[in-house]
Amino acid sequence: MNLNDHIRDIHDFPKPGIIFKDITPLLANPEMLKYAADKLYEKVKEQKVDKVIGIEARGFIFGPLLAERLDAGFVPVRKKGKLPSETVSVSYDLEYGTDSLEIHVDAIQKGDRILIHDDVLATGGTASAVEKLVLDLGGVVVQCNFIIELSFLEGRQKLKTPVASLLNY
Ligand code: AMP
Repeated sequence: MNLNDHIRDIHDFPKPGIIFKDITPLLANPEMLKYAADKLYEKVKEQKVDKVIGIEARGFIFGPLLAERLDAGFVPVRKKGKLPSETVSVSYDLEYGTDSLEIHVDAIQKGDRILIHDDVLATGGTASAVEKLVLDLGGVVVQCNFIIELSFLEGRQKLKTPVASLLNY
């Protein structure tokens, strides 16, 4: 089983100079989909996790698969204006642009043990913004986990919590 064979590099997407790591071939393969979810789970299974946070949009794919394996809940963090109830928000820098993210204020209770999940860790701006949201709401981040880590961008240095990833570039 080689995950790397199922990740597709798309050059100059969404902007010139970016090599986009496309996980859709992995998702389309039933064995690889299960394998990747199991591998992510193995990296965090010793931890008690109350809720898995998935970051819009590709964090919504493996986030619930992990939550199910961990007997945890799933909490979406979404782009501005998408969540219907009362939210708190945070602005952040992307590898390509800036944006803000929101979470429902009642999604996390004080002391909740949180796993943050997204498909790719690049500069770390997104994950560290989500980490801040969780900490501000009184949660404890036990791990940030990713399918892919672009190590050369040193994103993990922006994070206060341990990072786990399946593939490093
Ligand atoms: P960053 O905040 O720079 O760590 O960027 C992480 C977010 O942007 C994640 O939600 C990724 O899905 C997306 N992203 C950034 N760079 C890439 C890339 N080269 N390929 C695929 N997704 C990326």
